[in-house]
Amino acid sequence: MKYFDDYEGMHYEGNCIRPPSEADSILLQVTLGCSHNKCTFCGTYKNKRFTIKDDEIILKDILFASRCMKNQGRVFLMDGDALIIPHKKILWILDRIREHLPWVRRVGAYANTKSINMKSPEELAELREKGLGIIFLGVETGDDETRRKVRKGSDSIHCIEMGKKVKAAGIKLSVTVLLGIAGVERSLDHARLTGELLTRMNPEFIGALTVMLIPGTELWEEFRKGEFNLPDEEGLLKELRDMILHTNITRGLFFSNHASNYLPVKARLPMGKQDALNLIDSALRGEIGLKPEWMRAL
Ligand code: SF4
Repeated sequence: MKYFDDYEGMHYEGNCIRPPSEADSILLQVTLGCSHNKCTFCGTYKNKRFTIKDDEIILKDILFASRCMKNQGRVFLMDGDALIIPHKKILWILDRIREHLPWVRRVGAYANTKSINMKSPEELAELREKGLGIIFLGVETGDDETRRKVRKGSDSIHCIEMGKKVKAAGIKLSVTVLLGIAGVERSLDHARLTGELLTRMNPEFIGALTVMLIPGTELWEEFRKGEFNLPDEEGLLKELRDMILHTNITRGLFFSNHASNYLPVKARLPMGKQDALNLIDSALRGEIGLKPEWMRAL
């Protein structure tokens, strides 16, 4: 009889994050850290050296989930950039998920432009076939000046192409954009250019987060030295308004209900655009209360 190390549980290492929409998913850590790990605002994986975890540990976690997580219908592959895993190995992971967790309906993962670029359209389609149903991509901004400054690692044109490549493979695309990332000076350029990027990329889901200044990051240092100024609440609301105004996708959900935001907005685009703009205008006129600072702590 095979002995299962039930007491071991899942083999999580270090800081683990997942998108809010994956809160109820089986969180399967297949990599440690992020293969890029250079964005000046991001402190999530600063202390982790990027590694792809061993097959043995990944399989142990899948087997643990097969015994203890029978009610969770989705799997999310952590950490920062699971798509960077060589194609054969991701196929192996997806096959093991199908074999041992047959009730799982969808697998999701974070990706960046580099890891999407490394997969051919055929490989992405094969991953879709094997269950990879959604990719989460940190777009942050469509403003190339800001992308360079925060060391995003690609320009907006490449970012649009990579988003389209994911969609062409039949994989759903969920992107995040960062309010405040361009500072006060470029706030409205960032809003307009990001709206234009989103229009061209046309993702199914757009989540707007507010940039948080994390001690130890380069952005924090810039802020400390007075080289970076975060827009105030009103500035952030105006930025959100302009971003939504310039976002013309065919069909999708734009939401800013992340804990970091001052005003939760959830709009089905394109139909819900005017309602979202009206809501932000009401907040700008002071008719709707904003989230207090203490509630924004993550
Ligand atoms: S690509 Fe994402 S996880 Fe990696 S450093 Fe940038 S923001 Fe952080």
